[in-house]
Amino acid sequence: MEYKEVPIPKIGHRDVLVRVQVASICGTDVHIYDWTRWAQHRFVPPRIIGHEFVGVVSKIGDEVTRVKVGDRVSAESHITCGSCYQCNNGLSEVCANFKLLGVDHDGAFAELLVLPEHVLWKNDQKIPDEWATIQEPFGNAVDTVLAEDVSAKTVLILGAGPIGLFATGIARACGASLVIVSDPNDYRLNIGKKMGAHIAVNPRKHDVTQRVFEATKNIGVDIALEFSGNNQALNQGLKVIAPGGRISILGIYERRVNIDLNKEVVFKKIRIYGITGRKIFSTWYKTSRFLSAGLVDPTPVITHQFALKDYEKGMKLMKDGKCGKVILNMPTTV
Ligand code: NAD
Ligand code: ZN
Repeated sequence: MEYKEVPIPKIGHRDVLVRVQVASICGTDVHIYDWTRWAQHRFVPPRIIGHEFVGVVSKIGDEVTRVKVGDRVSAESHITCGSCYQCNNGLSEVCANFKLLGVDHDGAFAELLVLPEHVLWKNDQKIPDEWATIQEPFGNAVDTVLAEDVSAKTVLILGAGPIGLFATGIARACGASLVIVSDPNDYRLNIGKKMGAHIAVNPRKHDVTQRVFEATKNIGVDIALEFSGNNQALNQGLKVIAPGGRISILGIYERRVNIDLNKEVVFKKIRIYGITGRKIFSTWYKTSRFLSAGLVDPTPVITHQFALKDYEKGMKLMKDGKCGKVILNMPTTV
């Protein structure tokens, strides 16, 4: 990965040129930086990475109608086709032909970015840049939490990465009566408490199962939300869900997972629900409202800011896990 000058990208009839102000680092970007097995199989260089951002429209194609020059925008990172079976059925989050911003299409870790107008989201003026850039992962958390009715229910959040931490605040905002967060990283557990977790538990130091049963009078939780991508955490989650309860899974696993389907799912009548991306754009409306109405304050999760040229500092912090969300300021705004 290198920091260098590239030509200003050209726009087509339905494209928009965006001057990026602030971007943020996602785990996907770290995978590419690290050149992991996933990146080697999925990513074809050269490519500008990054898909979480906020910027200002600086030029529009002659057929663009959704935005105008000067609008402050972010974008849905799944560039959908708009014509496949799923797109035609209101399920564009699972578009058969989607392209990922910053993976299949030049991304947001740059001064200028070109996007088709249909993925742009006009930001609420009440939302500051540091919050606007994190709406994309915040939306993952919104969809995962809202997949089930958490109001007055007990919830276990597995994994306190940025998305699990946003989910903690969202679950509280939605009226969950007990939110337990687990993560082996104490730095992140502390942020979890700031985001409203009633109990923060480190699985390396304490027995998560025991803590959950103690806190729920031996009933178990109504809902588990899986944000760790860790097989052991998934099993802990399934174990402590009360029979008849539900689990929603956003986490992505390195390998095939191993679960006792008969014991932990079928005989307990558990419903498992997978989440990918966000609903386009209904999740964006909700995300924007959670933030603009003051229902969730994401400030504790946004722990570091660097200039774009210092992106490596951010990547290293993310690898060490000594951070929440890391923000990159573009040269024009530094
Ligand atoms: P992250 O890697 O920053 O967070 C994962 C957290 O899980 C880390 O803090 C880690 O310490 C913790 N963890 C590891 N082992 C654990 C265990 N045994 N118990 C509890 N916690 C454990 O990731 P993130 O950016 O917050 O994203 C969360 C997950 O969602 C990741 O797996 C990511 O790949 C996935 N994701 C999925 C989608 C989707 O569309 N499905 C989108 C974005 C991210
Ligand atoms: Zn499609």
